[in-house]
Amino acid sequence: MVHRVTLIPGDGIGPELTEATRRVLEATGVAFQWDVAHAGADVMAEHGGNPLPEATLESVRRNGVALKGPITTPIGEGFRSVNVGLRTALDLYAQVRPCKTYRGVRTRFENVDLVIVRETTEDIYAGIEFEQGADETAALAGWLEQHGRKLPQPDSGISIKPISITGTRRVFDFAFDYARRMGRRKVTAVHKANIMKFTDGLWLRVAREVAAENADLEFDDRIADNMCMQLVQHPDDYDVLVLPNLYGDIVSDLAAGLVGGLGVAPGANYGKGVAVFEPTHGSAPKYAGLNRANPLAQILSGVMMLHHIGEHEAGVRLERAVAELIAEGKSVTYDMKPTRDDPTAVGTSDVADALIAKLEG
Ligand code: NAD
Repeated sequence: MVHRVTLIPGDGIGPELTEATRRVLEATGVAFQWDVAHAGADVMAEHGGNPLPEATLESVRRNGVALKGPITTPIGEGFRSVNVGLRTALDLYAQVRPCKTYRGVRTRFENVDLVIVRETTEDIYAGIEFEQGADETAALAGWLEQHGRKLPQPDSGISIKPISITGTRRVFDFAFDYARRMGRRKVTAVHKANIMKFTDGLWLRVAREVAAENADLEFDDRIADNMCMQLVQHPDDYDVLVLPNLYGDIVSDLAAGLVGGLGVAPGANYGKGVAVFEPTHGSAPKYAGLNRANPLAQILSGVMMLHHIGEHEAGVRLERAVAELIAEGKSVTYDMKPTRDDPTAVGTSDVADALIAKLEG
């Protein structure tokens, strides 16, 4: 069977990483037909100023599966994040970021094996923002005041935090289903329901309802700040964590730090009938085109994709090859060596070559 997959190379280090991953995935023996589609600042001009061309979205919708490299977002100006735009357009509501320690990775922690499930359509990330000084912001502030809710300072920008029953229910349904499929034991809901009663409070209430419908799995909850401390002190007490959009973004980087950093943190975004596989890290523009960046997070995202398309045996084989490569510590990039200027560090494409040799050996 040939799997048709949309390949979005992205920008910055994205093209080198996705090329390394494509080669490694093909070396597993699984047959792919790649539908290459572009997005990001580099292709804007060709698409009438649109960094997220409709043809790219169409390709992902048609194939249902995409492997995506990171894409740069200009800070504080220019277009809205292509990554957020893609999640919105495809309604990719659940982001999964497994964080697992591999033997040989330089980290302070051992035996961490967490899965972060982040809701990605709602919360303060939903993009409902009012700029400081704009007429509509003054009107909103006036409306709030009329309803007894005065802003602490009049010269404020305002971001709105929507959290719905629908959005919360579907991400917890997904998380319990994912936990069961992956043989996990416990789901933890993370929130600040003590402070934000109408948003995080709703999140916790719905989480408990869904947990009651999935009583075969353990369930508990943690307040977000306490969760951060607990993760640093006892990461092995936790299994699958489910978080609203903003806490999920932050805590998934924290969890990536526990297992050795962004170089080994894969990810996937799931919607109804579509899934996009991409690493947690960004486009690291300073390493673009240098053949230096670590492709393992992108390759491990490819492992997640293999499982998603039912190629479990290839997924297990490739993950084993990655684990072996890390444990040997030879064919790894600079960030996985004892010091960052280690002359024995290899390049992005060499990591792919070493994995291909293991898979074909
Ligand atoms: P980043 O993840 O690109 O980089 C953070 C640090 O980690 C940098 O020092 C970088 O050099 C290093 N790093 C990242 N990936 C690496 C790799 N594979 N190998 C070796 N070192 C690596 O985060 P940032 O600097 O905050 O963001 C850069 C750009 O990426 C921004 O425009 C941001 O918006 C974008 N971004 C995109 C995505 C995505 O496409 N999903 C995710 C996060 C950030």
